[in-house]
Parts: sequence; structure tokens; C-alpha cells
Amino acid sequence: MSRRPAAFLGLGAIGAPMAARLARDGALTVWNRTHSRAEEFARANRTRSAATPREAAVGADVVITCLPSSREVEALLDGPDGVLAGLAPGALLLDCTSGDPATSRRIAERLAGRRVAFADAPVSGGTTGAEAGTLTIMVGADEETFTRARPILESLGSRIEHVGPVGAGHALKAVNNALLAVSILAVGEAVAAAVKAGVPARTALEVINLSSGRSFVSETLVPERVLTGTWPRTFRLALLEKDLGIARALLRESGVEGPVIDLAGELFERAGAALGESADYLDPIRLIESQAGAEIRG
Ligand code: NDP
Repeated sequence: MSRRPAAFLGLGAIGAPMAARLARDGALTVWNRTHSRAEEFARANRTRSAATPREAAVGADVVITCLPSSREVEALLDGPDGVLAGLAPGALLLDCTSGDPATSRRIAERLAGRRVAFADAPVSGGTTGAEAGTLTIMVGADEETFTRARPILESLGSRIEHVGPVGAGHALKAVNNALLAVSILAVGEAVAAAVKAGVPARTALEVINLSSGRSFVSETLVPERVLTGTWPRTFRLALLEKDLGIARALLRESGVEGPVIDLAGELFERAGAALGESADYLDPIRLIESQAGAEIRG
């Protein structure tokens, strides 16, 4: 399959495997803040690296961003080396960052003035889903932009859902990740309590997973990563903390009282402060284990 030239900005834990899929089926230029990572990626994936966002955007029909937050996306647009200096009218900016709806609406408005289309297209499915091309992608865009974005997103995901206008993808992703965070804490606490009550952790999870308390966290994340003691580092805790912040702001703005999500946000902030910059999103379970004096292994 061949498609029109694209550019990918942000080769992080999830960006790199997404870009690697796109490099297989058409012309792709990559850019990364740390240039050596872009060069290494370009060598390994037989593609081209650019020295600046502007250079990456020149000649691209679609520019995809996958950065920590909307703040970094917005900052990349301006200046002599920015994306807007290279993008031609008629191009599309596709933001796969888990970003915030208000910034995305502002970006979309600015781009519309230059006849550049915008869609927020955050992804779910983790680094494994990115490698396999099985991500779920929630797209916020007008109908015409969604139709245009769909083919390239199909290289990255198996479920491409048009969830509403610009900003809607980011809103849905933020509340999804708020649920994930609540679930991580709740499963950690529940299994620690079962262990203290004399139930082996593996048995507790197996029975929960045959019962009404099961979730993605209890069925997949905790058995594969915590029970085995492998704790792979695939998603920085700081990024989930950021998603909780977006979700909490959304709840406040929409007048939904959200004590559960608020508390999860506070607990993740505390965990982030205790565990430091390099912490992974499942590491709060380590804090639960240490407070409880119970390990979830087996
Ligand atoms: P990483 O922290 O692994 O990578 C971040 C990327 O952004 C790197 O390429 C980094 O460049 C770049 N970057 C950081 N700060 C800046 C800046 N100021 N200007 C320009 N580039 C910058 O993040 P992930 O790849 O894990 O996540 C990317 C997005 O995807 C986030 O919004 C995250 O919430 C979301 N996401 C992540 C998932 C995961 O499993 N990891 C799952 C689903 C969504 P450098 O190499 O120079 O540091």
C-alpha cells in the first residue's frame, strides 16, 4: 500500500512503534527533540529524519504529533523552525497526543485560518498495541477531516472511532485514563487486602476475573506485570497524572461532581512526588503493597 508523504513528530515509547508501522507503507519523515533518536530510527526503519519540525512538515500531506501533552504540540507550531513554517495549505495535522480539548480547539481554529485541517486522535492500547497496529483511536474532527484521516489511522489501529468534533477525542481519552487510574488503585488495594486475609494473590485475581469485579487491570495488567514481578516500564506515571488533570478539569467545567476521579488524581500526584520522574503508571501499586505489608506476587 502506498500513501501520500507523511511526517511523524515525537518518537517516544508509543510514538516510535506507531511511526515504525507508518514507515512500512509509504514515505515518512520523522523528527524528534533529541535528534539522535530520530537518526537512529531513520536508519533502523529505512526512512528520513528531519532536523526541525519545519523541515519534517515540508511536502507532507499529513503531519502526526505524539508528544507528552498539548502544551508541547502547541509550542512546536510556531517560529522559523516550527511546523507552520513548513506546512502547505491543504495539509492535515493529526494529533495522537493524549492532549486537552481546549488547546486542540484553539489549534484547530488557528490552522483553519491557513487552510490546514486538524483532528485530535489519541490512542489506547499501549506500546504492545502500537507495535501490533491494534490501537483504539478516538478521533475528534469534522466529518470531512475524519474521512481524510481514517486511511492513515488504519495503519495504526484496529478500531478507528469518530467520537465527536475537535476536542472530543481528547476528552474521551482523558476520562478513559481516569477510569484506568481508579482501577489501578482499586485493584491494588483489593488484592492487597485479600492477600492479608490469607488468599494467595494469584487465586484472588483468578477468582475476581471470574466474577463481577474484573477489569482490564485485574485481567491483564496486574497478572502480566505485577504478579510476575516484571514491572516493564511502558507508560510514565507523569503522563497518567497529566491525563487525570485533564479529566478533573473536564469534570469541573461540565459541572459533574467527581470525588472518585478527584481522589485518584490526588493519589497519583502523591505517588508521582514519592516515586520520582522515572516512575511507571503501575508503580502506585508498590506503594499500596508497602503500606499494607503485602506483596502481590505468585
Ligand atoms: P514518552 O515520554 O516516552 O516520549 C515523549 C516524546 O515527546 C519523546 O519523543 C520526547 O522527545 C518528546 N518530547 C518531550 N518533551 C518535548 C518538548 N518539550 N518538545 C518536543 N518534544 C518533546 O511518551 P509516550 O511516547 O509514552 O507518550 C506520548 C503520548 O502518548 C502522551 O500524550 C501519552 O499520554 C500518550 N500515550 C502513551 C501510551 C503509552 O503506553 N506509553 C499509551 C497511550 C497514550 P525526547 O526523545 O527528546 O525526550
